[in-house]
Amino acid sequence: MTAIILPEGAPASLARLLDDFTAGRKAALARAVSIVEDGRAGADLLLGALHPRVGRARRIGLTGPPGAGKSTLTAKLVELLRQQGRTVGIIAVDPTSPFSGGALLGDRVRMESVALDPGVFIRSMATRGSLGGLAATTREVCDVLDAFGLDCILIETVGVGQSELDIARTADTSLVVLVPESGDAIQTLKAGLMEIADVFVVNKADRPGADRLRTDIEMMLGLRGGHAMQNAPAHHGVDLRRLATPHPAHAAVSDDAEHWTPAVLRSSATTGEGIPELLAALERHFAYLERSGELAVRRRARLRERVKDVVFQRLARRLWSDAATNAWIDRQVADLADGRTTPYAVADALLRLSGTLMTGESA
Ligand code: GDP
Repeated sequence: MTAIILPEGAPASLARLLDDFTAGRKAALARAVSIVEDGRAGADLLLGALHPRVGRARRIGLTGPPGAGKSTLTAKLVELLRQQGRTVGIIAVDPTSPFSGGALLGDRVRMESVALDPGVFIRSMATRGSLGGLAATTREVCDVLDAFGLDCILIETVGVGQSELDIARTADTSLVVLVPESGDAIQTLKAGLMEIADVFVVNKADRPGADRLRTDIEMMLGLRGGHAMQNAPAHHGVDLRRLATPHPAHAAVSDDAEHWTPAVLRSSATTGEGIPELLAALERHFAYLERSGELAVRRRARLRERVKDVVFQRLARRLWSDAATNAWIDRQVADLADGRTTPYAVADALLRLSGTLMTGESA
C-alpha cells in the first residue's frame, strides 16, 4: 500500500490518526471523516496525505424522492455486496437538513441489518460545516472512505433537486430510484435526473403501476417506440438518438463498447426481489465504464473538480479570515450605501488588492 506522507511539522495527533487509519481501525476512519466533513484544522493535510491511496473504490450514487425506498434498497444491496466479501461505505446525504453526524434515525432502523457489520461503515451528512458546498464535501468524504480501502461506496441522497444532482455526479454510477406513486416521475426525469441516471429502478414493484412507470421511463429514454427519436436533438446532455434502438423491455443494456443504454429495472426492496438483478446491472455499468474508458474520463473530471473545490475553499478561507480584508470592506460600505460604487466594483478592487493573500504568500 502507498505510504502516507505528512509534511514536516504536521501535528503529531494527525500522524497518530493516520497510523490508526492505516491499521484499518474504523474509529480512525470515523474521526478522519469528521475532520474533513467539518473542515477542521488538518483537513487539507489529511486529504493531501491520503490522496495517493484514492481511486480504487467504486462509487455508486442513489437518488430519488423521499420514501422511494432508497435506504431499504441500500441495505439490501449492501447485504449482497457483503456476501460477495466486499467492504462497503454508505454516505447518506440530506441536503435539506442542517443536522448530521451518526446515522439518521430512519436509516438506522432500516440499516440495522448491516450497521453492526465490521465490513460496513455508515455516515450521514448534511449541510453543516460544508464550506465548499455539500457536493464538494461529499467528494472529500468519499475519498477518505476510498483511501481506507473500502471496495464500494454507496452515496444515498434524499430528494431530486439541483444539489442532489450535484452530489449524484460525484459517483461513477448513478442509480435513480422511483416508485409507482411518483406521479410526477416523468417531470422529475425532465428536471435533470435523466441526464445523470445510468440505471433506473422502479421500487415497490409489489404495488400497482410499477410496469406502467417502467414503460413511461423507457418511452422517455426512447427504448420503446422503435426509431421515433432518431432525429431528436440532444437533450439535457443525453443524445436521445443513441438511446433510440429498441431493446428488450427489461434491463435494456447495450453490448456496444462505446455506449451505455440506461437499464430500467424493477425491485421490491422489502422482500429483496429484483436486488440481484439490480446489482448485476450496476456491475454491467461498471464494466462498461472500464471498457469504454469512461471511468478514466469521469475520474479525471472529478480530479479537475477537486482542484476547483480546493481553490474555492482556500480563497474563501484566506480572504474572509483576513482582518485587513474585512477592515477594507468595512471602509467601502459607506460608498456602497450612498451609491458611489457597486458591490461588483468593490469585489474587483478587492481581488486586485488580494494577490499575495490568494497565493498564500502573506498567510
Ligand atoms: P427512502 O426515504 O427513499 O430512504 O425510503 P425508505 O427506505 O426509508 O422506505 C420508505 C418506506 O417504504 C419504508 O416504510 C419501507 O419499508 C417501504 N418500502 C421500501 N421498499 C419497499 C418496497 O419495495 N415495497 C413496499 N411495499 N414498501 C417498501
